[in-house]
Amino acid sequence: MKFLVDAMLGRLATWLRLLGYDTVYSAKANDQELARRARAEDRILLTRDIELTRRRGVRCVRIESEQVEEQLAQVFRELHLQRDAVFSRCPACNAPLQLLDRQQAQGRVPPYVFLTQEQFRRCPQCGRVYWRGTHWAHILASLQDLEN
Ligand SMILES: [Zn+2]
Repeated sequence: MKFLVDAMLGRLATWLRLLGYDTVYSAKANDQELARRARAEDRILLTRDIELTRRRGVRCVRIESEQVEEQLAQVFRELHLQRDAVFSRCPACNAPLQLLDRQQAQGRVPPYVFLTQEQFRRCPQCGRVYWRGTHWAHILASLQDLEN
């Protein structure tokens, strides 16, 4: 399942990527361009704009909340998404992450992070290195609450 996220929902796009979903975020496109791209690339359009959700031939979810945790929960609930690809896509540029050898992470992440984290991943496109910080625990917990 792939997504296209409108300009109002940048943080939601980041989280969908962190959770492994191919997500394109468009800060500038107008309604017509968004609808065309969603159709052409077979993406589900996530938007707060009710007019956009009325476009023909575009699969949409109208996002209700202004809180990113609730937005994410809504998308997961309505589309029955799974959390099985967590930590697999770059939140900055949407490229699939690669495993980074722990030794190679040394010097590229803060010393405390290197000592306390086991697993690191690297984005082949932008070169950023990622690990599971405390914000992970928080967002995953809020998704878990939803399922219970
Ligand atoms: Zn990247």
